[in-house]
Amino acid sequence: DETYFSRHTEFAWEIAPHGAMRVPAIIYADAALIRAMDDKVYEQICNVATLPGIVKAAYAMPDAHWGYGFPIGGVAAFDPEEGGVVSAGGVGFDVSCGVRCLHTGLKTEDILAVQEILADSLFNQIPAGLGSTGAIHLNSAEMDAMLLGGADWAVNQGYGNAADLERIEEGGQMRGACPDCVSAHAKQRQHDEMGTLGSGNHYLEVQKVAQIFDTPTAQAFGIQEQDVVISIHCGSRGLGHQIGTEFLRKMVTAAPQYGITLPDRELACAPINSPLGQEYLGAMRAAINCALANRQILTHLTRQAFSHFFPDAQLSLLYDVSHNTCKVETHLVDGNTRELYVHRKGATRAFGPGHPDLTATLRAAGQPVLIGGSMGTCSYILAGTEQREALAFSSACHGAGRAMSRHQAKKNWRGRKIMDDLAARGILIRSPSLRGVAEEAPDAYKNVSSVVNTADQAGLARKITCLEPLICIKG
Ligand code: 5GP
Ligand code: MN
Ligand code: MN
Repeated sequence: DETYFSRHTEFAWEIAPHGAMRVPAIIYADAALIRAMDDKVYEQICNVATLPGIVKAAYAMPDAHWGYGFPIGGVAAFDPEEGGVVSAGGVGFDVSCGVRCLHTGLKTEDILAVQEILADSLFNQIPAGLGSTGAIHLNSAEMDAMLLGGADWAVNQGYGNAADLERIEEGGQMRGACPDCVSAHAKQRQHDEMGTLGSGNHYLEVQKVAQIFDTPTAQAFGIQEQDVVISIHCGSRGLGHQIGTEFLRKMVTAAPQYGITLPDRELACAPINSPLGQEYLGAMRAAINCALANRQILTHLTRQAFSHFFPDAQLSLLYDVSHNTCKVETHLVDGNTRELYVHRKGATRAFGPGHPDLTATLRAAGQPVLIGGSMGTCSYILAGTEQREALAFSSACHGAGRAMSRHQAKKNWRGRKIMDDLAARGILIRSPSLRGVAEEAPDAYKNVSSVVNTADQAGLARKITCLEPLICIKG
C-alpha cells in the first residue's frame, strides 16, 4: 500500500507503522533496487515489525529477498524487558552461516601457474555437495565439547592455531551454548558432517584483490592489489538445519500459550524470557559453535592443500563473520544504552571503528564485512562505519542476494555452459552438481556492485576492496 511508503533518505525507504506494526520498516536500497525488490520483502518486513518487543524498526538490507518468515537480508532487535522475542525463522535454518577470508601471502601470478591442479586438489580435499561427509566422526562427548568450544575446540584438536581465534567473532567460541538443548537427531545428523562445505550457495573461492577503494583500511586489513585471498562460505550443516526445523515447530505450538499472535506462522517465536526462548538460544549458540568449528576445520584442509603447492605460504585469517545469528549486544537507541537481542538473517554484523568487541589489531579500522557476489562476479570486503548511533544496529548486506528462484535459474541456464563460459574468463569452477551450478548462475543474483554501493552510500558499511574469483569450489 503506497499510503504508508515514503523515501526516508536517498538510500532508505520507510514503511510507516500500520495495522499491527509496532515500529516502522526501513528498506535500504537505491531507486533501481527498490523497484526490483521482491514484493514479498515488503510483506515480510512489515510482519516482522509486528513482533512483541521489537525496538526502533525492522530493517531490510539492499540484498534482501524472500525468505522463510523473515526476509533474507532482515535485521530486527528485541528487548527482553519489553516482552521481546527470539525467533528461529529470524535466525534462519543454516544457523551461523558465514564467511571467512584468509590471506595467502601469494600473488595472482603464483596461482595462475598452478590454477588447474590447485583447483583439482582443493576439490579433492574439501568435501562438497549434498550429504557429503568428512573424515571426522565425533562421539557423543566430543560432539558436546565441539558444541561448547567452537573454533577454540577445533584449534585444540589440531585444526589451526591460536592466532586464528582472535580473528573470529566472539574469539571463536560463542558463550552460553547448551549442548543439552540440542536434540539427539540434530547431533546424529552432524556425526559425519564436520569439515564439509555443504551444497548450493556454499563455496570455497580463491580470489584476487582486483581493486582497492580505501587504501589505509586495506592496509590495516593487510591487503594489496593482486594479493590472493581465500573465502570460505558455509554454516552449521545438518545440525543447524535440524535445530531450526525443530524449534520452529515448537514455537508455532507454544505461541498461543505466550499470548503471541502470528501474522505468519513462519514467524514463530518465543519470549526471550521463557523456557522455550532460553532453550532455543542455548541450542542456537551451540549451532554457532558448530559453524565456527566447521569453518576452522575447512581452513585446516585448505592449508594442507595449499602447502603441497606453496610450502612456505602462511594462510592467516583476516576475519570470520556469521550472517545468520541472534546475538546479545549493547546499542544506543535514542540516546539510551540498551541490551538487545539482535537477529541478523542474511545480514552481516558491521561494528565500526573503536568498537570494544573488536580485537586490538582491527579496532582502529573497524570490523571487516565479508560480502559474497557470485562465482562469476566480484565479491567485496567492507568495513563497519563509525556512528554515534549505529544504523540498523550495526548491520550490512551479506551478499548480492538472489534476483530469482533456484527453480527459475535452472530453467534459464545449463551448468556445463556456465562452467565453460567462466573457464574462458579464467575462472575455474569445480562442483559435484551441474544442476547446482545452474541454480547459482551469476545472473541469478542481483548486481552486487549496486548492493554494495548502496550499503556504502547509506552509511551501513564502507567499501574497502573488491575481489575477483580465480577458483570456485561449489557445494
Ligand atoms: P546465502 O548466505 O544467502 O546463501 O548467500 C550469500 C551470498 O553469497 C549470496 O547472496 C550471493 O551473493 C553470494 N554467493 C553465492 N554463490 C557464490 C559463489 O559461488 N561465489 C561468491 N563469491 N559468492 C557467492
Ligand atoms: Mn548457508
Ligand atoms: Mn550464507
